[in-house]
Amino acid sequence: MTLGCKLNFAESSAIAQQFVKAGFREVSANESADIFVVNTCTVTEHSEKKCRNIIRKIHRRNPSAVIYVTGCYAELKREEIEKIEGVSAVFGQKEKGSILSKSVESIFPACSYGERTRSFLKVQDGCNYFCTYCAIPYARGRSRSVPMDVLLSQARKIASKGVKEIVLTGVNIGDYEGGLLPVLKELDKVEGIERYRISSIEPNLLTDEMIDWISTSKKFQPHFHIPLQSGSDTVLKRMRRRYDTALFRSKIEYIRKKMGDVFFGIDVIAGFPGETEEEFNEELHFIRSIKPAFLHIFPYSKREGTVAYKMEGHLPESVKTQRVKALEELSDELHAEYCNRFKGSVQKVLFEGKVTGNGSLMGGYTGNYIRVERPYNELSIGKIEEVVL
Ligand code: SF4
Repeated sequence: MTLGCKLNFAESSAIAQQFVKAGFREVSANESADIFVVNTCTVTEHSEKKCRNIIRKIHRRNPSAVIYVTGCYAELKREEIEKIEGVSAVFGQKEKGSILSKSVESIFPACSYGERTRSFLKVQDGCNYFCTYCAIPYARGRSRSVPMDVLLSQARKIASKGVKEIVLTGVNIGDYEGGLLPVLKELDKVEGIERYRISSIEPNLLTDEMIDWISTSKKFQPHFHIPLQSGSDTVLKRMRRRYDTALFRSKIEYIRKKMGDVFFGIDVIAGFPGETEEEFNEELHFIRSIKPAFLHIFPYSKREGTVAYKMEGHLPESVKTQRVKALEELSDELHAEYCNRFKGSVQKVLFEGKVTGNGSLMGGYTGNYIRVERPYNELSIGKIEEVVL
């Protein structure tokens, strides 16, 4: 069972592969099993609660099963998890790759093979940035990179399974040792992979040189996920982010100049400690002016051990909820505007499978990450087809 980010999904898939290699059989999440591995997340209080509930539910349904718990929450709050009834062992973040092998590696290479069409490939782990709200560097440690030769052989293996798209994942991918650009250039040459996306990259690490090269690649898609976190410079300072809104704007403008109307998904945190009404309005104004296609919105969540935890001016939940709502409305408006601009155009769509909850439809994404649904046709799954939107 996996909670949290794409990196966790890639790592869970690698753990499952280890088990299969050792002679176990993988079953789907709702079946009963002898061993369960729960890969946890610590990003918010809510995600930790969800992890605890899942562990309890597994134990209730499978009282004699072995339950291993790993991931970021397990790294930070081992004792809390050990106390939950049914938990057999807790493996911290650095021990994640050693659930079966017992060897602790400094970086656990991982990629997912679960889906037929899209794989998540872990490029990097950990972070040296210590933004004031974030507990991830404490859970995942300092930045480490998966060696290039390992990445290339994993990408070739993914291609050999017929997967067409790879999403590069990591905690702070732009911090790849020796630079990310050489990795992108080498991955671009892997035969069989037709599409790449970068799951998320810090704006200050997205260099003009990288943008120049991506704009010439036929495989890297016109889709960027860039964390903004706040559209107010004073809040960004308190978050200890390494850029200001002017730098963020210049990156967006440069990408548009080179690549046209690309899809920008940006992360924002609503209700950081001390965020005033003015600062929040500045943020809304800034986001409107740069017009991303989508906002990934997170209400600020107090994480023990971080600098922001001890800051003055923590906002009531009601204020955070209001701000999340205002950002959601803005995101819906921007997303509709973006999609409308492509109405009637011909786009290449990679169909991934049946739409959850409606088996008569199949769904997939265009290169610029517009979701498309069409009547189900088995022959289209895993293929890239031209569609009039
Ligand atoms: S860059 Fe900041 S937000 Fe991202 S993982 Fe590192 S510390 Fe956390």
